[in-house]
Amino acid sequence: MSKVQKKEIVSISPGNVKMGNDIPSVSLPPIITCQDMVPCASEGLCYVIKNMKYQVVVNAYSRNYNIYTKDPEEFFNQVKGYIMLNRPQYFRFHVGGDVPCQDYYDRIVKLCEEQKDTEFMFMTKCYMDDHYKEWMKNPVGSPAERDINFDVVPDNLNIIISTWPGHPIPQDLRDRFPVAWLDDGRDNRIPDDGYICKNKCNECLHCWKKGGKDVIFKIH
Ligand code: SF4
Ligand code: SF4
Repeated sequence: MSKVQKKEIVSISPGNVKMGNDIPSVSLPPIITCQDMVPCASEGLCYVIKNMKYQVVVNAYSRNYNIYTKDPEEFFNQVKGYIMLNRPQYFRFHVGGDVPCQDYYDRIVKLCEEQKDTEFMFMTKCYMDDHYKEWMKNPVGSPAERDINFDVVPDNLNIIISTWPGHPIPQDLRDRFPVAWLDDGRDNRIPDDGYICKNKCNECLHCWKKGGKDVIFKIH
């Protein structure tokens, strides 16, 4: 595998309007890092693309994925370097994109274990792989296999399982992780006591709390 040239710098956002200025994040391009035909993509409702207003953001996400695919270690070294330099209390993976493969998740785990002073979080639909699609024909229990497994979850990593109306949640994930619900009026599984997103992460921090309630994103 060829090494990337040093001029290719991983783009890390120091914050944005929703997250506030003190929660940095690193993102990947939507759709191509998501499982084939995740329902948000196939229904033309990817909310990341909807909110991507600037070409510079598209380029940044693409460059990040390009660096990762060419040299995964370089990608994660740069993320680690940013964290060591800036020492954020909270960090988010994937305002855009998703966990593309097991190697990527394993490197997230390593990073979390090395940077214990930072709390990490991501939401994911990476469980919606080919095994999941097969399982959906008779969704009892959980799919027998999964392309990306969260066997090890460090204490400072919070994983939130992102759902979609009409798509079942594997029971083992339901048992282990909080769930993010999209409330567009179609999903009658949404719990009454779920936490409604406040759209201001640095004042809320709900999604970084281990064992927190499910989070509900209301779509108007
Ligand atoms: S999983 Fe997220 S980034 Fe991927 S298509 Fe769906 S909304 Fe977009
Ligand atoms: S619930 Fe809170 S922490 Fe989670 S996405 Fe919404 S504002 Fe951010």
